[in-house]
Amino acid sequence: MTAPDLPHIVLLGAGHAQIHLLARLAKLPARRRNAMLVTLVAPYPVLVYARRIAGLVAGRYTLAEVSVSLDRLIHSGRIDYIQGRALEIDTARRRVLVQTRQGGRDLHYDLLGVDTGAVMDRHQLEQRIPGARDHGLFVRPMEALPALWDRLRARTNDIEGEGTGRPAPTRIAVVGGGAGGCELALALRARLPLAEIALIEPRAGGPADLPRRVQRRVARWLNEAGVTTVPGACSALDAQSLHLADGRSLPCDAALFVTGPQPPAWLGRAGLALDGGGFLAVNRWQQSLSHPAVFAAGDVASRVDQRVPRNAVQAIAAGPVYAANLLAAAQGKPLRGHTPPGRASGFFDGSNGRAIAWRGAWVFQGEWVARWKNAVDRRFLRTFGGTENSSARHGDFAPAGLLEKSEQSR
Ligand SMILES: Cc1cc2nc3c(=O)[nH]c(=O)nc-3n(C[C@H](O)[C@H](O)[C@H](O)COP(=O)(O)OP(=O)(O)OC[C@H]3O[C@@H](n4cnc5c(N)ncnc54)[C@H](O)[C@@H]3O)c2cc1C
Repeated sequence: MTAPDLPHIVLLGAGHAQIHLLARLAKLPARRRNAMLVTLVAPYPVLVYARRIAGLVAGRYTLAEVSVSLDRLIHSGRIDYIQGRALEIDTARRRVLVQTRQGGRDLHYDLLGVDTGAVMDRHQLEQRIPGARDHGLFVRPMEALPALWDRLRARTNDIEGEGTGRPAPTRIAVVGGGAGGCELALALRARLPLAEIALIEPRAGGPADLPRRVQRRVARWLNEAGVTTVPGACSALDAQSLHLADGRSLPCDAALFVTGPQPPAWLGRAGLALDGGGFLAVNRWQQSLSHPAVFAAGDVASRVDQRVPRNAVQAIAAGPVYAANLLAAAQGKPLRGHTPPGRASGFFDGSNGRAIAWRGAWVFQGEWVARWKNAVDRRFLRTFGGTENSSARHGDFAPAGLLEKSEQSR
C-alpha cells in the first residue's frame, strides 16, 4: 500500500468506460474518497467521443463538439493526473512504467484500471502491407485525428475549395469496410465532393459488423454517394498507388487505414491472461482472469464468457460496473456482474443528413433518425461535462503527441 496505508488506484487511459469512474470519484462522499489515492495516466486529459468521429471528419462538428475535457472531473475527483502513457505493466511487483514528456515514471498500484482502447499496430500492418507505415494515414489513435486531417489535406488538392489547379480529382482510398470505414468513406465524400473515394474491403455487401439489413442500406448509401467499393485486400502501398492482393493497382493520393482494432504491444509483456487475439481477458466483473487487482473495460478488454463487439457503445455500457467494481475492490466489498447489451441496437451516421438506427427487428432511417442520434450524443457529452463548446482545442492534441509518436515508432 502507498503511504499512509491508503490503497493506490492507478487508472490507465481516459476512454469511454473510464469516464464513468472519473465521474463517480467526483461525486463520492469525502469519507469514502479520502480512503484511497487515485492516479490517472493518459496522454491527454480529454475523451474523444467515438460516435461523432464521422461528423468531425465530415466537417459538421468541431473538435470541441466531439470531445469532453476531463479537467473538471480530475479536479473534483481529486485525481492525480499524469500526462503520459503506460509502457509496461509489471504485475509481479504491481508497478506501471509510464512515459511522460519529462522521462519515465514508475508507479506502484494496489488496484489497476485499464481502459486504454485498441491500437493500429503500424509495425504489424507494415509486415502485412509493405509501405503502409510510410504512406498510410491511420484513424487510431483518435486524438491524432485533427493532425491526420492536416496530413490528408496536405496530400489532397481540392479540400474545401483550396484547389491547386491540378486537373485530376484527388483519389482517396479508405482501407477497411467495417462500420467505421463505411462511415468515414461517407464523411470524406461529404467533405470532399470533388474527390474520388474508394472503399477497399475483401467482402462485398456492406459492413459485416452491423446487422444484415443495416448492411444493405449502408451499401446503398455508399453507392448513391458515388463511393466506389473495391472488393479486394490491400497488399502494398506506395506514394502513388495502392496495390491489391489479386495484382490490381489503383492510383491513390491518400490511403486511410480503418482496419480492425489490435491490442497494444505492451499488454503482451505484462503477464496478464489474454484472449486468443491478445486482448486483456476479463470475467463478468470486468476483472482480469489472472490478476484480481486488475480491472479492464472497453476495446482493450475481452470478456471470456461471451463475445462482445468492440465499440464505444459497449465500452460506455461496461463503464458503470467497471467503476463500481474497482471502488468495491478498494473497500473489500462484493463485486457485481456486467451484462453487455446485445448487437440489437445502434446508429450509423450517413453524413448525408440521415442516419440509420436499429433496435431488435426494427430498422429506421432518415433525417429524424439523425436528429435522434444527435440528441443521444449530446446527452452523453453533457452528462460528463462536454458543453459543445468545451475547452478542447486542436492544440490540445499535439500533432507529434506522445501517443502518436510512440505508435508510429513501433
Ligand atoms: C473511425 C471510427 C469510427 C467509430 N465510430 C464508432 C461509432 O459510431 N460508434 C461506436 O460505438 N463505436 C465507434 N468506433 C469504435 C470506438 O472508437 C471504440 O470502440 C471506442 O473508442 C472504445 O473505447 P475505449 O474506452 O475502449 O477506448 P478509447 O476511447 O480509444 O480510449 C482509450 C484511452 O486510452 C488512452 N491511451 C491509449 N494508450 C494508452 C497508454 N499506453 N497509456 C495510457 N493511456 C492510453 C487514449 O489516449 C484514450 O484516452 C469507431 C472507431 C473508429 C476507428
